[in-house]
Amino acid sequence: MNNFLSSIIYKLGAKSRNPSLFNIYREFKKSETLSLSELEDKRFSKLKGLLIFAYKYSPYYKELFDSVAFNPEQFSDISEMQKIPATDKSILISQNEHIHSNFNFKKVRKAITSGTSGESLSFMRSEEWDSANRAGVMRGYSWYGVRVSDKNGYFWGFNIDQSASRKVRWLDWAQNRYRLFQYTNKEIREFCKKIDNASYLSGYSSMIYKVAREVNRLGLNFKNVKMVKGTSEMILPKYQDEVRQAFGVKMISEYGAAETGLIAFECPHGNQHINTDAVFVETDENNEILVTNLFSHSFPIIRYRLGDIVTFSEETCTCGMKSPLIKDIVGRKGTNVMGNSQEYPSFTFYYVFKNLALEDDINLNYKAYQKVKGQVVMQIEGKFDASVESAINKHLNQYFGSDVAFDIEYLSEFSSERKKQQSFVSYLS
Ligand SMILES: [Zn+2]
Repeated sequence: MNNFLSSIIYKLGAKSRNPSLFNIYREFKKSETLSLSELEDKRFSKLKGLLIFAYKYSPYYKELFDSVAFNPEQFSDISEMQKIPATDKSILISQNEHIHSNFNFKKVRKAITSGTSGESLSFMRSEEWDSANRAGVMRGYSWYGVRVSDKNGYFWGFNIDQSASRKVRWLDWAQNRYRLFQYTNKEIREFCKKIDNASYLSGYSSMIYKVAREVNRLGLNFKNVKMVKGTSEMILPKYQDEVRQAFGVKMISEYGAAETGLIAFECPHGNQHINTDAVFVETDENNEILVTNLFSHSFPIIRYRLGDIVTFSEETCTCGMKSPLIKDIVGRKGTNVMGNSQEYPSFTFYYVFKNLALEDDINLNYKAYQKVKGQVVMQIEGKFDASVESAINKHLNQYFGSDVAFDIEYLSEFSSERKKQQSFVSYLS
């Protein structure tokens, strides 16, 4: 599809699906010229509004704030946030109903996530919240002269379920997106021919790297790429040389999660600007990030432990925008699962457990580790249940077939150390 037609389709789609998107986007764009104190004032009033709302409409936060004598009406200094106990994914799952606001939103949509920590979660996201997520991403793209609707290549997972894949294909078409489903050399070669004039590429950084290596080996040519965006995994320094050579630009990072929305986006000067229009971020004594989503009224996300270790920078970016910077994000490394004949990216488990939640309505906490090639130990939090186990095996089989043998163990509860670990750990060298 050409970019003009695609931008019309995108705008029409956004008008019906996300009516507040362009207003929020314009508001976010205005923040680019604000001073730091103006940004902080804007953030503070949004934050206070959210806290008051959560206290009024979310039974969970009402009880939580009362238990620590926190009165959001009297909230006057950002440091008072530290009074509120942090939340994590297991709380969002176990207290799910109580966290949801009893407020009648005009438009809400169900969001399902399993994420890198391995626990799957569903919650209702209001239209404004969804639009704010999109507006933050659109603003990041605008720094590179890219529109979301421009022709793009997408290096994501390979969800092979047939009905899901038809839906995915239709959505891809509507978004001018070309998706690489499988990472064999033949597929990569054919895919690169399709996207040689794409404006941007995005997806898992380890996959982008893999494709870049193949592009360089084959001497293929990309002339139009303005932005290569890696998500969900650390961008290792070794990726950059191959990516620059293949696509002409370095890989930049977008940092966020379904629950938190966009947290930071890297600008063309190489710094990760915090999305202060939509999130308030802090770190605890261990430098673990705590995120409050300023648009999360339908399911308040307040001081949420995402599981990443981050450091903030005291510097101001030379690009001119005054929003504060994240210096480093540690964690979320991409490791492969070694089958007897093939390798699988660790995020394959994400799809297995997401499908389990979507198709079988089974939400599980899992951790997996590998010590022997072709064998993986899968730990599930909870008691053995024959029907659950057969559903897990069905979904594992869809991706790994007989190439990987799984040993499923049940633990009554993951230890806190275990919870902090990645969902998949490999001990193979
Ligand atoms: Zn900058």
